Amino acid sequence: MRYIPLGKTGLTVSEVGFGGIPIIRLDEDTAVTVLRRAYESGITLYDTANIYLDSEKKIGRALGDVRQKVVLATKTLYREAAGTMEHLENSLHMMRTDYIDLYQLHQIAQEKDWETVTGPGGALEAVIKAKEQGKIRFIGVTSHNLAMAVKLVHTGLFSTIQFPFNFIEEAAKDELHTAARRRGMGILAMKPFAGGMIDNAQVAFKFLRRHPDVIALPGFDSPERVDEVASIYQKANTVTGDDLKIMERYRKELGKQFCRRCEYCQPCPQGVMITPAMTYKVVASRMSPRIAVKFAEITMQSVTLCTECGECADRCPYKLPIPDILKGHYELYERHKAECG
Ligand code: SF4
Ligand code: SF4
Repeated sequence: MRYIPLGKTGLTVSEVGFGGIPIIRLDEDTAVTVLRRAYESGITLYDTANIYLDSEKKIGRALGDVRQKVVLATKTLYREAAGTMEHLENSLHMMRTDYIDLYQLHQIAQEKDWETVTGPGGALEAVIKAKEQGKIRFIGVTSHNLAMAVKLVHTGLFSTIQFPFNFIEEAAKDELHTAARRRGMGILAMKPFAGGMIDNAQVAFKFLRRHPDVIALPGFDSPERVDEVASIYQKANTVTGDDLKIMERYRKELGKQFCRRCEYCQPCPQGVMITPAMTYKVVASRMSPRIAVKFAEITMQSVTLCTECGECADRCPYKLPIPDILKGHYELYERHKAECG
């Protein structure tokens, strides 16, 4: 395991971090075991979010006694200052700490998000103030929308950018990563397994390790999974012709059904929450159907408003058949609801 600078923050972190979603589906003791195994394997960067249910609480319990030796990153989806402060205080409490190393504005995808965040009483004011108070060390940002992510980097306001990056979603490697490097920002890669679509860890990390300053944030749901990834990082990286063929096969198979969460399809005139509904299947597999039916209840209820007008599908750069996928996901949600009572 290498330890590398997180951009120009002055922080040094393990070259692979810990993504905080899959521990949601574990009971607290098991989550703590997984987190401790990660820590003992040399992982020092832990990324979570206020919206990831009890993920912050589990991280706080597992790593409270080694707080000074780890870098804690979390996020808020709030766009206004008041909600942001409330989320930040909650994160501090849950993670049993009096400072967050990296506090990120979560999923800034559309212009209206950015206008609210930067307007009077917006989230940016709150995080800058919290940084002055010492509650936050560095401010970062996350997005799934490439054009917006590039714009966010160019603002010069953030220390890190977090964007999806894996061998199916490679778009970030050009303009986004280049711009972030020029500004000395830390580059964090969410979704190293494309949200569960890539089930070959060996090949997934062979791709990622070709980008040695990009810090991948895989989620872990068992100590064995931690061991598997840690052992990959102990070996030299060799990418063979067969590996490239495997990557190409995944790209061909998944390219036509895989939602990148870029939000170009929104807004829906009927108010359907398209992007989260498009990812219901992946969310259910990562969180478990029992948790997902509650987590996604409002989202999935909005799908019933769909009139199948097709406006969203016309805007999707990947030509995904959105109304059909939404219908399938709604049926899956109803099945999960019936099975989980
Ligand atoms: S459906 Fe298409 S446009 Fe909408 S978020 Fe997914 S990939 Fe982007
Ligand atoms: S097809 Fe459905 S989800 Fe898409 S824009 Fe029309 S009503 Fe909204």
